[in-house]
This record gives sequence, C-alpha cells and structure tokens, in this order.
Amino acid sequence: MSTETSAPKEEQHQFSAEVERLMDLVVHALYSEREIFLRELIANSADAMDRRRFEALTNEACALPVTPQIRLSVDKEAHLLTISDDGVGMSKEEIIQNLGTIARSGTRAFEKQLKDTKPEDRPNLIGQFGVGFYSAFMVADKVEVISRRAGTNEAWSWTSEGKGQYTLTEATRETAGTTIILHIKSDADEYLESMRLGNIIRKWADHIAWPIAIKQGDE
Ligand code: ADP
Ligand code: MG
Repeated sequence: MSTETSAPKEEQHQFSAEVERLMDLVVHALYSEREIFLRELIANSADAMDRRRFEALTNEACALPVTPQIRLSVDKEAHLLTISDDGVGMSKEEIIQNLGTIARSGTRAFEKQLKDTKPEDRPNLIGQFGVGFYSAFMVADKVEVISRRAGTNEAWSWTSEGKGQYTLTEATRETAGTTIILHIKSDADEYLESMRLGNIIRKWADHIAWPIAIKQGDE
C-alpha cells in the first residue's frame, strides 16, 4: 500500500474582463449601502436551501438535515465573518460557472441602469442583474467559498481577493452546503458585531423562511 500523501489539487483561474468590470461596478456603485452584502449572501443561502428541498423530493441523497439553518459566525480577532448553509451546494463546475463567469445579464446593461438609478435605489438593481455575490467584496478584501454539492462527497474551495483571479482547491466539508468566509476589511469592523448583524437581518432578511443563527466568538 502506498503511504504517499498528495498535496491538495490547486488551480488558478482568471476572471473574464467582463466579470472584473462587473465586480468593480458592484463594489463602487453600492458603497453607501454596504450592509446589503449580507442580504445578498443570506438570500443566496436561502435559495440554495429551497433548491435542495426541491431536489430531495426526487433524490433521497439530497435530503436536508433535521434542523436546516443559515449560520453566521464572527471571529473578531481574525476579522472573519462566516456564513454557512445547508443548501444544495455547488460542484466544481458549478462554482466556476456561478462565481467566475458572467451573470445572466450583460455588464453594459447593468452599467447603464446604474447610471440611470438614484443611489438609494441601486441595491435593488443587483438582485435584478444577478450580481449579488460580488457585493461581498464591498466589505471583504478576501472571500473564501467552500462548497459541497448535495448528493456528492467532493468539496471545493474558491478563494479570491476580487482582483483578476481566483484559486480553486480541493477541500473537505462534513456535510453538503456552502460556507462563505469573509476576511473583513479594516474599515468594515462593524460587520463583526453580532448586534449590527442582527439589525441588518431584521431590516433586510425578515422574509427569509429558514432559521438564521448568529454566533459570536465562543458563545
Ligand atoms: P443570483 O443569486 O441572482 O443568481 P448571485 O451573484 O447572488 O446571483 O449568485 C450567483 C450564483 O452563485 C447563484 O445563482 C448560485 O447559483 C450560486 N451561489 C451563490 N451563493 C450560493 C450558495 N450559498 N449556495 C449555492 N449556490 C450559491
Ligand atoms: Mg443572489
């Protein structure tokens, strides 16, 4: 038997120029409404859990855990905010497709709409254009996504600083779902306060049907 241990597979990928432009637009156009990044990430988790529940109707291997949840946790010392869900997760191909290539609508249309929209109405645009994930880079200088597709054992991590490229690495995750780790920027410390997070959730995510748990430090 071989005792060799192989290093995890790691791949560098380039964002397309269009994705880069889109990230730039999202980050700068919405700077005055940074808190909506959390609405977007929670909405993505909730969508993923809805999809898993639907898939489970025809595929037992996708069954949800007994108490499905969206979990927020904060590590103040390490400046990390983590959002974890029991959603359908993403395969490697789905990660590349969903997080690294162009959203469903064109960059140019988005750019034009932004120009024609008052700053206070812009947060609604990102939902319409399917670019909510990139709003994470408003508050984070590095984003890690660890995902395991329901019905499979394989997990992959996607890491990016939002500039030009992302890294894909083979990873492990105990159960199916997605974990998003935000390395919070030094000027965005407020998003490491569980009180602040609770207020944002009450304001923007009140309609989410899945339970949302907030855990701070060792609580
Ligand atoms: P939208 O939600 O409008 O499609 P986003 O930019 O918010 O646009 O997300 C892009 C895509 O990435 C989603 O459509 C989904 O396929 C995938 N995705 C993002 N977050 C998650 C998650 N937590 N679990 C599973 N898939 C996700
Ligand atoms: Mg979304």
